[in-house]
Amino acid sequence: MALIVQKYGGTSVGSIEKIRDVAQRVLEYYKEGNQMIVVLSAMAGQTDGLIQLARKMSDDPPSRELDVLMATGEQVSVALFSMAVRSMGYNACSLLGFQVPIHTDDLYGKARIHDIDTDRIRKELEKGCVVAVAGFQGLDREGNITTLGRGGSDTTAVALAAAIKADVCEIFTDVKGVYTTDPNICPKARKLETISYDEMLEMASLGAKVLEIRSVEFAKKFDVPIHVRSTFSRERGTMVIAETRDMEKVLVSGVTYNKNEARVTIKKVPDQPGTAAQIFEPIFQAGVVVDMIVQNTSEEGLTDLTFTVPKADFHKTMKSVSEVAGRIGAEKVLGDEDIAKVSIIGVGMRNHAGVAQKMFHVLASENINIMMISTSEIKISCVIEEKYTELAVRVLHKAFGLEDEAYPEK
Ligand code: ASP
Ligand code: MG
Repeated sequence: MALIVQKYGGTSVGSIEKIRDVAQRVLEYYKEGNQMIVVLSAMAGQTDGLIQLARKMSDDPPSRELDVLMATGEQVSVALFSMAVRSMGYNACSLLGFQVPIHTDDLYGKARIHDIDTDRIRKELEKGCVVAVAGFQGLDREGNITTLGRGGSDTTAVALAAAIKADVCEIFTDVKGVYTTDPNICPKARKLETISYDEMLEMASLGAKVLEIRSVEFAKKFDVPIHVRSTFSRERGTMVIAETRDMEKVLVSGVTYNKNEARVTIKKVPDQPGTAAQIFEPIFQAGVVVDMIVQNTSEEGLTDLTFTVPKADFHKTMKSVSEVAGRIGAEKVLGDEDIAKVSIIGVGMRNHAGVAQKMFHVLASENINIMMISTSEIKISCVIEEKYTELAVRVLHKAFGLEDEAYPEK
């Protein structure tokens, strides 16, 4: 007998029929003698719908009330799920965040979980109930309802699994697991059997939106193994776990891309103390998250500075940088929205030389120009022209031996 936490995302509980299917699947585990805690998201589209409602009422809805409103999405799905289980002749009990309770800080809309009281859940489990916990929500110290940020039900599930020392945390979603790259642009993408927390964090932050980033950070901190798998299939998915020796043998585990960034270059910036601070100050003030920053060694006291920002913040950033450039006497500001960042990720890179060289070589052989490069211990990223994204991903995926051999050539 095991204690299992399962989380089902919005598409998995997107209709009455689907909620019934989930209830049936959960009961299969229950009938085998397992204790079941089920964390649910709101039915697909509901959270967006609630946010739209709020916007109709107010241009700038108060964050406390927005959280009260958004938390209702998950209330609906846990109630309906419990009804489904009971209609099948078994016992179930729904619990909202404040009933568990799940304690958080008071940052509405992006609250962090402090601790979870597991007594109530344990009591319900002992009564033989399947316990359905509303994802994405908690309670601050003053007793206010909080939400954890979009996609936050993953974090609820992982945090619960850690607090109650569950044997496994299974995240059910609409994909079969974590892939070596985006199967939509590379049909030979392969499902990974395992991936380390660190690799997953890099994959998630680069846009492989299988798991919410914070849930992976949580899992890493408390060493909770996560099984990411599909609600619509019986196949095993991908285990996200602590790094093992075996993982180091693989140079690259995945190729990711991000088309959501734009590049800003400031030409001939006077190379003296304080210029970078002056340039970035207004950008940070405006809440823009700068990603890569590259500065050249200076020639005759002048240097070029290039960095990337989210596309959505491009125009705002160009305006701010142009103002500063005038003030500090830089030559000109150039912007480019048609870029993409392609990255290779793998813990095996740590102990192997030549991985970067191979990446550059592969891109060169397709005549793809590299505009910027950045590296970390387990990741190498290159900024290239956006129109080459798919090609770059495919050739890198192949060159690093990630292809699914079983997949027929197109
Ligand atoms: N319902 C919330 C959202 O759509 C939380 C979640 O799905 O995990 O962001
Ligand atoms: Mg969701």
